[in-house]
Amino acid sequence: MFVGHYAVAYALKAKEPKASLGMLFIAVQFVDLLFFPFALMGIEHLNFVEGYTQVNNYQMEFPFTHGLAGSLVWALLAFVLYYFGLARKQDRRKGIAVVMALAVLSHWFVDLLVHTPDLPLWYGPPKVGLGLWQHKHLTFALEGLLLLAGWGYYMKRSQPKKRWGTFAAYALVFFLLLINYLNFYVLPQGEDLMGLTLSAVFTYLFFGLLAYGADRGRVAMGT
Ligand SMILES: [Zn+2]
Repeated sequence: MFVGHYAVAYALKAKEPKASLGMLFIAVQFVDLLFFPFALMGIEHLNFVEGYTQVNNYQMEFPFTHGLAGSLVWALLAFVLYYFGLARKQDRRKGIAVVMALAVLSHWFVDLLVHTPDLPLWYGPPKVGLGLWQHKHLTFALEGLLLLAGWGYYMKRSQPKKRWGTFAAYALVFFLLLINYLNFYVLPQGEDLMGLTLSAVFTYLFFGLLAYGADRGRVAMGT
């Protein structure tokens, strides 16, 4: 799952307006941000198997980043980082730390919808996954619909602060929907791990920056 993860970032931002949408965008992809470098370093594994699913060729071994237990640990770290660090001086530090942790944890549950049974609960079997990646068009549609649902909720709970605040929010979601389309139907499947790692890290951070920028034009409803 790719742009569908951002549905959770938008929804959590709507729930806790003091959290940063840019950081939420990064948090929902945090375990993927770790996975590619981990694969590059040989800590986890990514093999390319032609036709593995309809959506991609990735056969993955990733207990630390995509195990349920591992995800809980990363989420707990996010909570600690925000509660005792980044959000320490904010009056809503607990709310912020909780949504950041939930954002990190959400990745596993959203991935569960699409992955073949390769997501460990702990380390090794049993592994789970509902396998929507076996249906390319359905996965494409689900990613887009999820994104729109989360975004719609965020729009309902916020209002423009700057004149461009609504335009930028629409521009970002259209951009993400376009990326979703290109990703599924236009761009070639990369099979070079270094290239994939660089593009994944760049993409996730860049999208976080875009979300941060777009959200500066909006403010929570009623404030
Ligand atoms: Zn993932």
